[in-house]
Amino acid sequence: MAWDFSTEPEFQEQLDWMRVFVREEIWPLETVIDELDQPALDRIYAPLQEQVKARGLWAAHLPAELGGQGFGQVKLGLMHEILGSSPFAPNAFGNQAPDSGNSEILALAGSPEQKERWLHPLLAGDLKSGFSMTEPHTAGSDPTQLQATAVRDGDEWVINGHKWYTTNGSIADFLIVMVVTDPDARAHQRASMIIVPATTPGVDIRRDVPTMEHPAAHFGKLGGHSEIVYEDVRVPAENLLGGQGEGFLIAQHRLVPGRIHHCMRWLGVSRRAFDMLCERSLYRQTRSGPLADKQTVQNWIADSAAEMQAARLMTLHAAWVMDTQGASAARTDVSLIKFYGARVLHDVIDRALQAHGSLGYSTDLPLEAMYRYARAARLYDGPDEVHRESVARHLLRGYEAPAGDVPSEHVPTRREAARRRFAEVLEAVTADD
Ligand SMILES: Cc1cc2nc3c(=O)[nH]c(=O)nc-3n(C[C@H](O)[C@H](O)[C@H](O)COP(=O)(O)OP(=O)(O)OC[C@H]3O[C@@H](n4cnc5c(N)ncnc54)[C@H](O)[C@@H]3O)c2cc1C
Repeated sequence: MAWDFSTEPEFQEQLDWMRVFVREEIWPLETVIDELDQPALDRIYAPLQEQVKARGLWAAHLPAELGGQGFGQVKLGLMHEILGSSPFAPNAFGNQAPDSGNSEILALAGSPEQKERWLHPLLAGDLKSGFSMTEPHTAGSDPTQLQATAVRDGDEWVINGHKWYTTNGSIADFLIVMVVTDPDARAHQRASMIIVPATTPGVDIRRDVPTMEHPAAHFGKLGGHSEIVYEDVRVPAENLLGGQGEGFLIAQHRLVPGRIHHCMRWLGVSRRAFDMLCERSLYRQTRSGPLADKQTVQNWIADSAAEMQAARLMTLHAAWVMDTQGASAARTDVSLIKFYGARVLHDVIDRALQAHGSLGYSTDLPLEAMYRYARAARLYDGPDEVHRESVARHLLRGYEAPAGDVPSEHVPTRREAARRRFAEVLEAVTADD
């Protein structure tokens, strides 16, 4: 029997250290983040990142030969469960989105020169990156419609296009841009990924789009989602990642790990909201007793605990499939947890917010910010509907329509067959009557 839910004692020790570190060193940052600009933030992060490196926990998502720790997805899941508790923790551990996904792309598809120039400094925390695929005027959930192009001109690619929601675009040193390079090829072979240094002439980072999460976006700060116009941007031909027309192939490899990393982080956010729900229920008194005595609140606590446990096991199971069978084999498991996890995240935060009444709705608690953060989870890395569709399609491949359109469980049909099968016994019973 190989089913085993235990954690090795040495790694548990690392997790225990992380839990205290994130709570004591990162959570306080949240309360002053609006007063800090990016250089000040970088100054605060630098010594924290050194401590993480010294513990051997830096960039844990990548194999050791690429400068990571090679922990695999299950260990990473356990780490992210802690890091997810604060949107500012992954940056201290060198595995924040989108850098973690971009480093997976560079590791997978980068040439030795590209790894040297972009991947190693990215992993060292010396560079920041963005992933520029979504466009305002085409459906992000169907990237075969992409309109941005790159045309080969001698030894260069010339890029034109309009992108938005490029996370960290306004602080990125380089952008990985998904563009159409082969307009006449089959749908999934039309696009390629190209590395574009952010300072290249023609890269016009217009704004960080104000969102539900950051209604008053500060341009040029960690976590912004940039709108970028690429106008006659020229980069060397060798900035192409992988082969021409392999953009979708590479994207699939990037998106599966990228998605599960989000799901892992959501476990940490849900847990923090759940802790607040439980704490509130113990001290808030209404109608001669604490909220904890009210059945509705008990239901919220029990339902949240059950749903969080389900999401945790589904996430770690998908991580285990990735570790043992590869990212492609885990696609359906990751799609399952992507939409289920987003719902659990929302529901747990919603209950915690409700239990806090108007205090929960105020910015005096982090719940309203968590609630706004959670809403995006149903959209990025593929909206819920697309993941449900892909899960249903995959599952339906294991079924076929019944002969004559009669359901295989149709009781009269089964009864007729059973009567034929047990005819002798049934006849004897009738004769005895
Ligand atoms: C916080 C955040 C960060 C992001 N970061 C990045 C980033 O770094 N880089 C990047 O390139 N993009 C990023 N995105 C963009 C994100 O990936 C897209 O928003 C997403 O893919 C959906 O694309 P869309 O917004 O164009 O919606 P559309 O494709 O227009 O879809 C709109 C809605 O249509 C419905 N729908 C779509 N397809 C189906 C279907 N098959 N069946 C039923 N209903 C369907 C869904 O309800 C969907 O929400 C980010 C988005 C957010 C919110």
